[in-house]
Amino acid sequence: MKCVVCKSPDIQMKTVEEEIEIGNEIILIPVDVLVCLNCGERYYDRKTIKKIEELKSKASSHDLKIEVVGKVFKALVA
Ligand SMILES: [Zn+2]
Repeated sequence: MKCVVCKSPDIQMKTVEEEIEIGNEIILIPVDVLVCLNCGERYYDRKTIKKIEELKSKASSHDLKIEVVGKVFKALVA
């Protein structure tokens, strides 16, 4: 398999943190995906997409165990 973006053959299965947004909050979900080592493009398989969707709906109904790992701040600039 070659990367469709940069044509690099360096694609590896990696555990990455996928961001999902619930309202104003962002939850990081660790998932195993194929990642292009050259440009960073991620390739999700059907199973991973399903897992993300499931966790998303769990998170919106507050049925997901989470911990606070940091805060996101917004710069107040004109
Ligand atoms: Zn690539």
